Amino acid sequence: MITEYRFCPACASPLALRSELEDAGLTERLRCPACSFTHWNNPTPVLAAIVELDGQVLLARNAAWQHRMMGLITGFMEAGETPEQGISREIGEETGLSVSALTLVGVHDFQRMNQVIITYHAVAHGQVQLSPELAEYRLLRPEQVKCWRAGTGLALADWLRSRGQEPVFMDLPTADEPRASAPGETSDQPGFQQSAPPGRRA
Ligand SMILES: [Zn+2]
Repeated sequence: MITEYRFCPACASPLALRSELEDAGLTERLRCPACSFTHWNNPTPVLAAIVELDGQVLLARNAAWQHRMMGLITGFMEAGETPEQGISREIGEETGLSVSALTLVGVHDFQRMNQVIITYHAVAHGQVQLSPELAEYRLLRPEQVKCWRAGTGLALADWLRSRGQEPVFMDLPTADEPRASAPGETSDQPGFQQSAPPGRRA
């Protein structure tokens, strides 16, 4: 998702597409004609977790999603926290579970949402209590999980391979994009991904 800002956040002048000489050469970006502000539009870091509870992987569906797919637990980093603190906080807020071990799985681009996804494997404990942001969840054995071909799906595939399991991929939904990706909207549920086969709710 590329958010198109219209006004300068520093001086409120209308932004304009302007070319300037940068390290990589002449580059057109949204810039402020009145002050030196440049809208760099850098990708946003997103935290994701493969939450393992009693040997099963927890996948959850965002209440805002139109489709029935399940995803990893994800969230944005807050200012003043480490990635490890951030993903532990998100897991706690969204599932009520506590985390006893975190391992970095990998870092993947998710260009459609202009995000960089930092994914951890998290060993979790406790009783699942979903936040209102999540509509439902499932606990699946790792062999049951399918991976998207982008975003956190790539991280999930890496994790499965690290366990000696060849990942099974499935295609991204196209017709029913999640509402949270609509331009101009903000969401605490970035980097939607993943998948679970249709089945019984956990
Ligand atoms: Zn300005």
